[in-house]
This record gives sequence, C-alpha cells and structure tokens, in this order.
Amino acid sequence: MTTSTGSTTATVRRAPDDAPPLVSPAGLPPARHFIGGTFPEGSSEAVIDVVDPSTERVIARIPEGTAEDIDRAVAAAVGAKDAWARLVPKDRSEVLHAIADRLAEHTDLLVRLESANTGKPLEVSRDDVAMTIDAFRFMAGASRATTSMAAGEYAEDHLSVILREPLGVIGVITPWNYPLLMAAWKIAPILAAGNTLVIKPSEQTPLTTLKFAELVAGLLPPGVVNVVTGYGAVTGARLAEHPDVDMIALTGSVPSGRAVARAAADTLKRVHLELGGKAPVLVFPDADLAAAASSLRTAAFWNAGQECGAACRILVHESVAERFTEQLVGEVGSLTVGEPRSGEETEVGPMVSKAHFDRVTGYLERAKKDGARVAAGGEALDGPGYFIAPTVLVDLPEGAEATRQEIFGPVVTVETFADEDEAVRRANDTPLGLSASVWTENARRSHAIAARLDSGTVWVNSHLVLACEAPWGGFKGSGYGRDLSVYALEDFSRTKHVMHHHGR
Ligand code: NAD
Repeated sequence: MTTSTGSTTATVRRAPDDAPPLVSPAGLPPARHFIGGTFPEGSSEAVIDVVDPSTERVIARIPEGTAEDIDRAVAAAVGAKDAWARLVPKDRSEVLHAIADRLAEHTDLLVRLESANTGKPLEVSRDDVAMTIDAFRFMAGASRATTSMAAGEYAEDHLSVILREPLGVIGVITPWNYPLLMAAWKIAPILAAGNTLVIKPSEQTPLTTLKFAELVAGLLPPGVVNVVTGYGAVTGARLAEHPDVDMIALTGSVPSGRAVARAAADTLKRVHLELGGKAPVLVFPDADLAAAASSLRTAAFWNAGQECGAACRILVHESVAERFTEQLVGEVGSLTVGEPRSGEETEVGPMVSKAHFDRVTGYLERAKKDGARVAAGGEALDGPGYFIAPTVLVDLPEGAEATRQEIFGPVVTVETFADEDEAVRRANDTPLGLSASVWTENARRSHAIAARLDSGTVWVNSHLVLACEAPWGGFKGSGYGRDLSVYALEDFSRTKHVMHHHGR
C-alpha cells in the first residue's frame, strides 16, 4: 500500500484548571462492600486507590476485600435465595422496573461517575447508562414471556412438564471497560431468572457498581445483590471456587477466564465467560467505502478502542485498499481526544491505567519493529493522563502480533486480501471469535461470508450496534455463554423435566 505516512497531530483537550470535578465528594458511593443490604466494615483495613486516568488523581479509596468478605457475601446471597426464587415472574419484574426507574432518575450522576472513574467521554458513559437501564427493562419483560417445549405426552401414559428453575447463587466478576454496563448485563438476567448474586467489580473501576448498590438497596430484599471490592486473584478467585456458588460468570480477559474456569472445576459449578475479541472487518470492492470509513471511525475508537467488539482489524480488498485507507485516515484524523471534563465534543479518552497504557504502547513499538507503517497517530500524547493518539497501522506482515492479539486501545491495523477465501481464512486466523463485520453491497456474498466466520456476532455494513433483544458472546477463545436476550435468561437458569405417570 502506498498511502503516505502521515501522523495526526492529536492533542489532548483539557478542562480549564478551575473546572469543577465531574463528581463532588457527596456524589461518591460509600467506599465499603455491600453485603446483606448494608455497607459493613470489611475484614481488612487495606485499601485500593481508585484513579481518574485522565488526570492521574486518586478520586477514592475502596476496601481491598478478602476471602472472608466473599464468604460473608455468599452467605448473605444463600440466605436470600429461596424467598427470591419463590417470587412469581411478575413480582421480580416489578423490582427490575423499579431499579430501571431509579437508575434513570440518577442518569446524570451515573454518567459523570463513570467518566470520572474510567476517563471515558461523557458521550460514551451516556450510552452505557442508557443501555444499562434498557437491560433491566428488557429482562423485566422477557422473564414474563418465556417459551419452552410444550407440556404433553411424549411417552405413553406419561405427561412431561418442563420447569425453568433458578441456579441459586451466581458469582459475577466484571472488567473496567464498561463497569456499570457489564454489571447490568449480568445482574438483570440473573435476578430476572430468580437467582441471587455476589458481584466483584474491577478493582480499578468499582464506583458505579457501588453507586448502583446504594441506589437500589431499598428496592431489593437484603442479600439478593451483594458487592465485594478487591483484587481478582483474591476475591475473584474465592468467588470462583466457593462451594456455595452455583455458577461463576466473568467478563474479562482470556487469562482471567482460564483462571476462573480452573477454580470452578473442583466444585463443577457452571461457568459463563465473555472474554476478549479481535474483530475482523472485511471490506470488499463493492462496499460503500466512504460509509465504511465513517462507521469505523466510531466502531474502532469508541471507548478509545477499549472495547471487546472494536473494529480493530481491517482486511480490505487489494483493489480498493489505497482509496479506503486514505478515507479511513482522514476520518481518524478528525477524532477529538480529551479528558471527559473538557466537554461533550470529546470522543476519545485515555487508557484506563498506567499499566494498560504501557501495554498498548508496547504493542505499538513492537508493531513498528515488525514492519508496520504508521498512517495515523502511532504514539502516546502528553500527560497527565494515559492518552494515546488514534492510530492506523498499515503494511503489517501476515501473522504479525498486532493483527492477531487483542491490543484493546485506539489502534487499527489494515491488511489486504486478494479474494473471498483469503479474506475468510485470515479473518478466522486468530484464537478469538467474538465479533466481525462484512462490508459489501452483494447480499449473496454477505450471507455466505457471515456463515463462514467464526464469530458470535457478524454485522453486515455496520459494526458495534447492539440491542438487548439480541445475544452477545463469543466462540473459541472469546468464551462461552451469552449475555443479553432470552439466551442469557436460559444460561442463568436450569431445565428440569418432571414426568407424571397417569396410566391406570
Ligand atoms: P481482567 O481479566 O484483567 O479483569 C476482569 C475481572 O477479572 C476483574 O474484576 C479482575 O479483578 C478479575 N480477575 C482477574 N484475575 C482473576 C482471577 N485469577 N480470578 C478471578 N477473577 C480475576 O480484564 P480487564 O482488563 O478488566 O478487561 C478487559 C478484558 O475484558 C478484555 O480482554 C476485553 O476483551 C474483555 N471484555 C470482554 C467483553 C465481552 O463481552 N466479551 C466485554 C468487556 C470486556
């Protein structure tokens, strides 16, 4: 590809020095675990700093939970499970609607708190909170309208009835990229299906999960939802191995998925894993290239690319590669990078932490050594804050690390292919299989390619659009189980066959 090497001159939009914080101290949640309906003292005095990654300032300190804290929370969830499971769907549904209403009343605070903790633009947090509310509303309705095999006689003189039962207590472990939204994707179906739960948010981004607990505490019986903060290797691991936890559901990285599945093995509890992604984007010569470039501007750089479905790996037909890449570079150069306090126009925030910033810049350095040419961005931006310029890398050799591993930052790679078979082979040549997109005006091709891609979601002429009615989850190294939709309700419940003999 001969696209000229140009570097965007992204700068970081800053708020004026005297701008107020996004959240006043009074808006912060209690810095405590939430167990049995209250915010008790933790078992240890140790704390974890919570940092605003756009300013590097500590904005809160939360308890560093222990296995003992998890055990208390699990005991509370066990104590609450029978009464919650006995409620008819209508009654649980009303609680979920009340939760949605309560969250909606506090939208603005939740948006600002999420942005303060993650550094993400207000626009992204607003989208997160809107979908959080919708997840509760969807599950409130869907749990009242489940379908199943018809009751009937399938063996002579025997009536078969299928019951859908809750699993019991579910352990939930969430990541830092969409803290409130990923919590909601679990909490809503888990409660709707009649389970109780203990959630451990990411140690880096616990604030909106604790705020959620504070807001909904009065709407739920004590013990139905419990929150324990702390590190994954301690609190997450205890939750995964706990004998009274019936299922462990993790959204996170592949290594954490492996650790959780191993820890769950001894008790043979069910495991639900939403792990990483490396979404291939297949652009064919008949695609509307301008529409593709413009859509990928959002789909690749939403949440600064810290998005498991990000459109991060573009495979474009060689005949249109140059034209398409120029359009893409133009789009990427117009992105506004900044801290969330700098205003509503900011589109790309910082990496969530110094460790993650180092990880992403490490990928960039190695990609350059592998022969990648930087068509846009390619470097870190001035601090404070962990900002990286929106980046487009071209001319990578086939199989280069940057094209196969999840970078999870504002970095897009562009490769070329010669025909459909090569496009599919290379798209599938990654251990991950969460999502993908196909860009073509040819319906035969879009259907044929979608069927051949090893991805849990395939978009055609679109990317990263989600709906609570449709399932989300991966194949291969991206895990198993589905979030959202009626499939999540099935995952978080069990099937029982009751057979009545009525022969005389
Ligand atoms: P992470 O795996 O580092 O952490 C996720 C959670 O797991 C955290 O709460 C962490 O404390 C916990 N954890 C870590 N080690 C653990 C252990 N040994 N036992 C139990 N729990 C443990 O992931 P992250 O960096 O917070 O999030 C980014 C990752 O999440 C990316 O790989 C991304 O693709 C993935 N993700 C996937 C989806 C999806 O829907 N598939 C959605 C969002 C994020």
